Amino acid sequence: MNEWSIGDVIIPWYERNRRDLPWRNTDDPYLIWISEVILQQTRVVQGLDYFIRFVERFPNVVSLAEAEEDEVMTYWQGLGYYSRARNLHRAAREVVSLYGGEFPRSYKEVLSLKGIGEYTAAAICSFAYRLPYAAIDGNVYRVLSRLFDIDIPIDSGRGRTYFAELSRRLLDRFRPDLYNQAMMEFGALQCIPKSPDCEHCPLNTRCMARAKGKVEQLPVKVGKVQVKPRYFNYLHVHDETRFLLKKREDKDIWRNLYEFPLIESDKPLTFLELQQTEEWNQLLDGADRPEIRRVFEPPKHVLSHRVVYAVFYEIKVGRFSPAMTKFMQVSKERSGDYAFSRLMQLYWETGR
Ligand code: SF4
Repeated sequence: MNEWSIGDVIIPWYERNRRDLPWRNTDDPYLIWISEVILQQTRVVQGLDYFIRFVERFPNVVSLAEAEEDEVMTYWQGLGYYSRARNLHRAAREVVSLYGGEFPRSYKEVLSLKGIGEYTAAAICSFAYRLPYAAIDGNVYRVLSRLFDIDIPIDSGRGRTYFAELSRRLLDRFRPDLYNQAMMEFGALQCIPKSPDCEHCPLNTRCMARAKGKVEQLPVKVGKVQVKPRYFNYLHVHDETRFLLKKREDKDIWRNLYEFPLIESDKPLTFLELQQTEEWNQLLDGADRPEIRRVFEPPKHVLSHRVVYAVFYEIKVGRFSPAMTKFMQVSKERSGDYAFSRLMQLYWETGR
């Protein structure tokens, strides 16, 4: 196939099949940026609601820069990958301090902002400014690897270089915005991971993977990420009106989100074993009439590199112990002011 003609096939396909999404009807780089970051690792259906709420509260880069990080996190809670929200906030402040609140217009400057990688910079610059940069997301990798029968692993250094070079050659330089949108939408709707409808595909006569019966084998990946198990024992300690809370500040999952006092163990603990830990005894020592009200064990919580096995213990006390004073004591009515992980949210939802 003549590489240069791909845009001529998929752009008309895109114009017939595209989903009408709010970030497609704008050339505002701020809105495009927010949508791209939300859609990394998130499905469009789920991301849409978050996008609408987020840009209602933070309609431009200055409003985002001026917000407190805690508030930004509350608009992100449930989406996961919280470093994305922290980076968005930091980058918004960079745009204000370095560019006076005007989103930068060159690829190099956009790429230099906190948390913006090559894909996001290419998407912003091509959609907002029509600059000729090819955006390569997972959908594009899949389409190209099948169309040209490329079995170089897409998650290897060699694969990234190969696909970047190929994408540069294929890009429609006069319509980079439409070309990139079309390629991604084509992968999302037509050339889907499992059982694509090759029969009705406009590229089916030229698709090498289809001709060779290799559609389901492509793209190739080097290997799966090692998933590490973690065991979290959460203590929802409260008196009549307040409960204990803490901000996660270490370089770890869920940084800057809030949670109950946590005892992490290297294996699952029975309640008896938990009561024998030093942390339990330190925390509960001196607490007035502790009483276990509820034990909640949610299903395992799967993250990209971790799987969290959690157990929540609701413990009612008459009065907080001395060790509990190092935690925040939050009134029950104010729990909505804090950003929680999806796991913590699940606990709140099931307890009400
Ligand atoms: S023929 Fe099938 S595998 Fe090939 S591009 Fe079309 S949908 Fe994808």
